[in-house]
Order: sequence, then structure tokens, then C-alpha cells
Amino acid sequence: MKKAENTEDIKLQLNNVNKFYQLGNKNTFHALHDINVTFRKGELVSIIGESGSGKSTLMNLIGGLDSDFEGDIIADGQNLRNLKDKDLDKYRKNKVGFVFQSFNLIPHLTILDNVTIALTLSNESPSVKQEKAEKLLTRLGLKEQMKKKPNQLSGGQKQRVAIARALINEPEIILADEPTGALDSGTTLQILEILKEIADEGKLVIMVTHSEKVASISSRIVEISDGKIVRDEYNKDYKKAEENLFVDSSPAEQIEEENQVDDKKKKRKTPFKSTKQNLSLRSALRLSFHNMWASKTKNLLMAFGVSISILAMIIMLSFGSGLTDYISNLADSYNNPYYVSITKKVERDESGNITETASPLKALSFKDNEIDMLVNNINAQLEDKNYTFRVDKDENLFYGFNMLAFQSASFSFPVDENGKYDPLGDTTVTKDIYYIYTTPPYYDENNMVAGQISGMNEIMLSKAVVEMMGFESAEELVESNARVSVDLKALGLKTDSIISPSLGLAGNPTISGIIDVTNLFEGYPVMYVDYNYLSALVQYTNVLGNKIDFAPYSLYIKTDAPKTTDFITNYLNSLNDYSGSVEQQFAGMFKEMLSTFSIALAVIAGISLLVAAIMILVVLYMSVTERTREIGVLKSIGARRKDIKRIFTSESFLIGLLSGIVGIIMSLVVSGILIIVFKATLGLAPISFRWWYFVGALGISILISVLSGLYPASKAAKLDPVESLRHE
Ligand code: ADP
Ligand code: MG
Repeated sequence: MKKAENTEDIKLQLNNVNKFYQLGNKNTFHALHDINVTFRKGELVSIIGESGSGKSTLMNLIGGLDSDFEGDIIADGQNLRNLKDKDLDKYRKNKVGFVFQSFNLIPHLTILDNVTIALTLSNESPSVKQEKAEKLLTRLGLKEQMKKKPNQLSGGQKQRVAIARALINEPEIILADEPTGALDSGTTLQILEILKEIADEGKLVIMVTHSEKVASISSRIVEISDGKIVRDEYNKDYKKAEENLFVDSSPAEQIEEENQVDDKKKKRKTPFKSTKQNLSLRSALRLSFHNMWASKTKNLLMAFGVSISILAMIIMLSFGSGLTDYISNLADSYNNPYYVSITKKVERDESGNITETASPLKALSFKDNEIDMLVNNINAQLEDKNYTFRVDKDENLFYGFNMLAFQSASFSFPVDENGKYDPLGDTTVTKDIYYIYTTPPYYDENNMVAGQISGMNEIMLSKAVVEMMGFESAEELVESNARVSVDLKALGLKTDSIISPSLGLAGNPTISGIIDVTNLFEGYPVMYVDYNYLSALVQYTNVLGNKIDFAPYSLYIKTDAPKTTDFITNYLNSLNDYSGSVEQQFAGMFKEMLSTFSIALAVIAGISLLVAAIMILVVLYMSVTERTREIGVLKSIGARRKDIKRIFTSESFLIGLLSGIVGIIMSLVVSGILIIVFKATLGLAPISFRWWYFVGALGISILISVLSGLYPASKAAKLDPVESLRHE
């Protein structure tokens, strides 16, 4: 073939191209010396030369994989040296097609997906992709293999797939670096024929080969030695192929023509034909999904690991809220819908003691004028909102007193030699009372385990006392008419103010009944007394020399309807100085303790999430190393850094999604089991879910995965294409 005269035919021109490799220590290696060469369309060029002579170096420069050179490489009027990375990506995507010695197919994608990957990077529609790929694969005799994976094909078939992949974007330059190096002679010939066909269609095909025999069938031989062109010959005997391997070549020609029209239309607005679109998120997800599927065991194991921390987080949160709910319900169960309970808000420490060191009694108790003011305010609110109900101090306002401190009193009783209660016993046993309450006005027999609500000279004790006093059952204790003496320690009364016959209040109090206390205090002695009885006792001790301003700790308003109760309760809550019943106050205190506890649990869960994040990071990092070659291939096809990053980020997103879902499912299963176990052993299951635990867990799972994936993804994106392709 004669050198064409027409400059329009020039596809590629290299002027004084020099390439230096940096060897470190400021040493450089001069790999290419003053390369001057021009290639035209329709040429099938063989680059020959000994190993290490610089053939691959030259190919990488021409292909835009390596842009670090001196001199000019002009492709279609554009100087590659002046191109921005972005435009170099477009050049690789649209102008050149690479064929490698080792095929470099992406193992986890089907043949069809391998061929269309360049179109995927351009966000081409599936139907167009299918159509173009099918046409090419048919021409290359691979139509039947479309659905297979690369490792199911022979070497020759793989190289034909690689050629199809290189041709899919209708590039004008095909670069093949030792395309037949890994093939037997029969297959070699087949591949050469195909390359020849492509050249005959008007493309420029440049291939590197070791073999003179292979070179001899090309139209031109360029020999390189020590980075210099030492021979550049045209093959006089070169003939265009007699019969086209491509059964139907007209569409290809048509495409070619369309291309040229296209090129003219877009004339140099942007360098090189370019579809504006890039890899879509959907395609990135699909690519990552395929990759993850290819190593599903690894990914499932990792997701399982991550999901354990998600599980821990959900279980801990659900346990915390379960306990909180349980306590709230318990507190609520003590309230009566027809009564408003009012206590003053004070700060308490962990054991329920008021943190204020000054007289706790003063801080907690309601003074007369305070009660009047509160009643007036409530009535004004009721009037304002047209409620008919009014609070009346004499009619529907009741007082209460609650000693919340631990060991607020003790009770003593005489015993016989067996330690059983005996009114005539010689020894006395003293036990601590944990809490003193006055009986709320709405307590009735439903609150009793045995006996009756106490009145004057009577007290009620909790179940724990029954055994303590040596009785078989609550009924037996009540019926025994047992009398105890009580020391009201927490009131600051002197020891001689023991409630005793000497007080003139009809002697030691009788135990009128055993009261049902919450599960929380089930095991402790708790005392209930009538408010008026307690008040009378205190006043009596004052006569004896104590100076205690006895005033109520709790107020109770008996309303006409639950609606009124709610209204008044809401109003009081809005004042911030009051809270509901003592039980509700207690519940609040426990909730606070629980939230501290929950924070501790959350920190543990957080640590496990951190471990999970590091695990994801390591696995993805290793995956980048494993897939270095694939990244190189993607880059040679024109993938931008962004695209690579997107593929890896999609992968970490999918890992997060998978882990989150697995974690949620596991947490449901585990909490189901826990509920059954708790119910069977404790009779209650303090586990409750909030919908946002699941949404949050899923979100956190995705977030930590994506965050841990950022570094590996950016590492992948930054990989040098030439080096990655050389990676073993
Ligand atoms: P060929 O493909 O002809 O076998 P190459 O183009 O791969 O040869 O290499 C040409 C020369 O450049 C060799 O001496 C090789 O050692 C050197 N070379 C290639 N890549 C690098 C690199 N990244 N750093 C340093 N030297 C390199
Ligand atoms: Mg080489």
C-alpha cells in the first residue's frame, strides 16, 4: 500500500516524542528517543522489537494512558500533551480501543457486559447497548457466548471479546499490545485476520508483536530498538483481505460514515466525540452488585460481621426503651383517672435523696398560701376553658406525705425465741422501712393483698414484712392484730418520739393490712399510713419538744372526669415546678438513670460500629488491590476517576444496605427469643421497639459503610492506569 497523500487520512502523528521514567534518587530512564512517526487510517501497523525496547511505553502514550512525555502526539488534530485529564478520559473512551495480551476481561461480568462496559460508562440505554454488542459479537462469531462469563471461553474467544469491547465505541484507533502473545498459532491467525479486517474498514490498527511472521502480514512494520525507531517499512505485498470475515460489513461502514458526519457536526467544540452522559448511579450499582455477587461468601460474611453491631445497637436501644416503658406503665398504673396528683419537683440523687442539703421537708412541702395560690390558679384555668369543675380545699383537695429517702423509718416488734412475732416476747427485733407513704385517697381494697386500708392508729406494710415477722401468710399477719412500734427517722424526730403507747394515741399501731407495692419494691418493707394519723403524730411530738412544720408533700384533687384530670395535669406540667404522683417522679428518676445507662450501652455499640467500619475499610481496601487490573482496564476504556469512585462507593453502599437489613432481621429474631425467655422467667419482657431504631440502624449502617469505603474508593480512583494494567 502506498503512503496516502491526503492529509485527511492522518490519524496520528508523533513529533519528537521522548519518554523518561523516574527511577527515584533523581535518576531517570530514557525509554523513548525522539520518536517521529505518522500513522494513517487503514493501516495495520506492527510494532516489533525486543523485550524492553519501549513498545508498550509507546502504546501507552498513544492510547492516552500515560500523559507524561515530551514532544507532541497529535490525534485528529488534538495534541494529547495539552489535554486535561477529563478530555484524555474522553479520548480513551471514544477515540481509541485497547486490546491486551492477557485479554483483561472483567471476570465477574458476562461477555455482553464486558463488551458494553464502555457504553455503560457513557450511560447508554440497555437496548442500544444490546443492539450494538449483538451486532459486533455476531460478526466475531460470539453470539452464542453472550451470556457466559469470561472463564468459560477459550483464549481465542476471549481475545475476540476483547476486540469487540475495543470496537464498541467505534474508535478510529485500535491499539493491541501483543494481542496474540497468549494464543496458539491457529487462533493467532484468526485474530490477525480480524484486526486486518478492522484496518481495511478504514481504522488505524497498531499492534505490538514479537513475531516477524505475525508482522509480515501487516501493512507496515515499525521496529523499535532501545527506544528508537530503527526501521519503518511498508509491506509491498500487503493486500486487503479478499473476503471479509465480517459477514455483514455494511452496517459497520455505515456507522463509520455516521461517525465522520458526527465529527464534522461537533467540530472541535469539545475535543473528541463525546456523549455528555457519564456512568449512571444505577449502572454503578449494577456493576458493584455483580462484583459483590462474584465474591458473595466474603461479602455476606462481612455483612454478617457489620450486622452484629447493628443488632447490638438495636437490642440495646430496645432494651432501654423497654425498661423505660415498663417503669412508666407501672407509674401510670398507680394513678387514678379521677385524681390529679401533685408533688413538687426537686432534684434527687441516685438513691432518691433530695440533693438540696437544707431542710428537705421545706423544699418539698406545700405551705398553706402556696396551696391557696395553686388552687386559685387552677380554678382560673378551669374557668378560662369553661370547665364547670372547681377545686375546693374542703371538698376535693386531699393531702399526702411521702418520705422518699431510703430507710426513712424502722419498725420494731417483740419476738419469741424462734424470732416469730409474739406480743409477750422478751426480745425486740428492728427492721428498716424503706419508704413511708401516706395512703392516696383513691386507694381501696384493690390495692390490698390482705386486710384493710389503715385509719388512725393503724399502718399498712408491704408483703416483705410478712415473712420478716415470722408469719405464713399476709392474712395470718393481719388477723394476728400485730402491733409494732415505728421510729420515723427521716422526719428528724428524736428517738423518744417513737410511735408508742406513751404518745397517748391509743398505743402502738396495728397492722391493718398488707398493701400491694410495685414489683420494684416487692422485696422491701414499705409503710403506708393515713395522712391525718401521721399529721397527728407529728403534732404530738412537737408538743413533746420537736419543732417540725408538718405540711403535705403531695396534693390530690378529686375531679369530676378524666378529661378534667388531664387538663389540670397538663396545666401543672406546663408550670415546670410540679410533677405528678410520687410514682411518676420515681419513674422520671429511673428514666434518667436509664438514659445514663443507655449512653454507656450506646458507647459500646459505637465501639462495635467502629470495629465494623474498620473491617469494611480493610475488605474494600483489599478489594481495590485485587481489582487493580480491572481498574486499569476501566481506565483504558475511558472511565473517569469519578466513575471508579462511584463504582467503589456503590459497593460500600450495598454492603451497608445489606448489613443493615441483615442486622434488622437478626435483631427481630434475637429480641423475639429474648421476649420469650424474659416472659418465661420474669413474667415480663422489657423490650420495646421504636420504628426509628430500624430506620436509624439502616442509616447508620449505610453511613459507616460509605464512609469507610471513601478511602479505598479514592485510592482506586487515583491508581495509575499503566501501573494497574501491569499489576499481576
Ligand atoms: P516493551 O514493551 O518493548 O517490552 P516497555 O515499553 O515495557 O518495553 O519498557 C521499555 C523500557 O522502559 C524497559 O527498559 C523498562 O524496564 C522500562 N520501563 C517501563 N516501565 C517503567 C516504569 N514504570 N519505570 C521505569 N522504567 C520502566
Ligand atoms: Mg511490552
